[in-house]
Amino acid sequence: MTYSLKGKKIWVAGHTGMVGKAVTKHLINESCDVLTCNRAEIDLRRQHEVECWINENSPDAIIIAAATVGGINANKSYPAKFLYDNLMIETNIIHGAHKADVTKLMMLGSSCIYPKYAPQPISEYDMLSGPLETTNRWYAIAKISGVMLCQAYREEYGHNFISAMPTNLYGPGDLFNTDTSHVIPALLMRFNEAKKTDQKSITVWGSGKPRREFLHCDDLADALIHTLKYYSDSEPLNIGSGLDITIAELAYLIADIVGFEGEILFDSSMPDGTPKKLLNSQRLSQTGWHPKISLRDGLLDTFLWYQKALIDGIVRIK
Ligand code: GDP
Repeated sequence: MTYSLKGKKIWVAGHTGMVGKAVTKHLINESCDVLTCNRAEIDLRRQHEVECWINENSPDAIIIAAATVGGINANKSYPAKFLYDNLMIETNIIHGAHKADVTKLMMLGSSCIYPKYAPQPISEYDMLSGPLETTNRWYAIAKISGVMLCQAYREEYGHNFISAMPTNLYGPGDLFNTDTSHVIPALLMRFNEAKKTDQKSITVWGSGKPRREFLHCDDLADALIHTLKYYSDSEPLNIGSGLDITIAELAYLIADIVGFEGEILFDSSMPDGTPKKLLNSQRLSQTGWHPKISLRDGLLDTFLWYQKALIDGIVRIK
């Protein structure tokens, strides 16, 4: 059954992050009313504040794009923050949505909820079938709890709460910080700096052998709106591009886009994380959605955004 967005009030929680921004932009085409709230207005980790906001604004549907996120190093360095923030944000919003009888809610997770050695490509049914990768287990446990909260409220109260599991994401508006970013913004920053300062070599973390699947945030936003309208099931829904590459291949691609011609070195003292993380997105493609943005085009778009953001002072070199 289709969930029509026409005339509905849709709250995008986390509209200032990369995903929330892209979703908000794409919802413009849906004849709905987009609700947002700023961090200064409410702290999503405080239950009372969240419930008051929901009561005052009466959203029909909610997209939970708000989360504390970061790359492999951030996950390792801030275990309490990643577990606490994410558990609180999703619990408060899901419980608040239940109390206010919100008619549809979509929680966003991540492909890191699946076991470290899950069979590839990873199906939705592999959740909780084996041990997690240790570097991001805090974030993963929080997101697994979010999936299960949606399932529990669906089972106990019949709410139409769903969860979507995107693969590794990137794009304009991503977190750019060489220590705490995900691999794509970190390498775009480092390669750009190396080219500008004429460095002879550059170091990439890990062995370069892990494989990752990447999806541009505009493709994700499009998929999420499609999912909100057409998906209504207790199992999470994987959202991927269907293609993965090694980190070494990614590094050479980024070098080419940025124009860096020096040597690329790999620092094996840094963690590799999960060896391979390709999602099986067949259930999504059966609903009629397919990605449109190639990795090269998406990286170029992100690099151009980053260069402008540097000039505008939105991001800084760190
Ligand atoms: P993950 O999918 O949770 O491991 O997310 P990341 O984007 O943080 O890392 C993906 C892979 O890229 C890992 O194997 C990292 O070791 C590798 N990598 C290489 N260089 C970097 C870097 O500068 N930053 C990050 N975050 N990862 C890097």
